[in-house]
Amino acid sequence: MTPRRHAVAIARLVVAAIEAEPSRGPQKLRRSQVRWAAEQPDESLATELGVLELVDAARDAHLCALGADDGLAALCVPWQDVVAEAVALLDRPRARTCTRCGARLSRRRRNCGRCGRRCDNQG
Ligand SMILES: [Zn+2]
Repeated sequence: MTPRRHAVAIARLVVAAIEAEPSRGPQKLRRSQVRWAAEQPDESLATELGVLELVDAARDAHLCALGADDGLAALCVPWQDVVAEAVALLDRPRARTCTRCGARLSRRRRNCGRCGRRCDNQG
């Protein structure tokens, strides 16, 4: 595993932790904290924002799934890299889904392929 792949794997866990927040308020706050930390890669600021804690928890979870050699590489990934990848993941375009049945919508079709609901003007 390359350092970049470790950073992406840890970033995925960071994003998953943010998206696991049950309410929108804290989720939004977390997102902006991660963005902020990515723009100002200052360790004491990241600590204060709780972003470092988030990255470390994700790194621990990632380490659990690795052998010793890969584990060492994962430990060496700078938190700044993880935060940068997390922001890229947070900004990725989301797949559109039907508001009624949750089916994935094709970009070109206006109606849901499963239930027929008209789902334009979103995403
Ligand atoms: Zn539908």
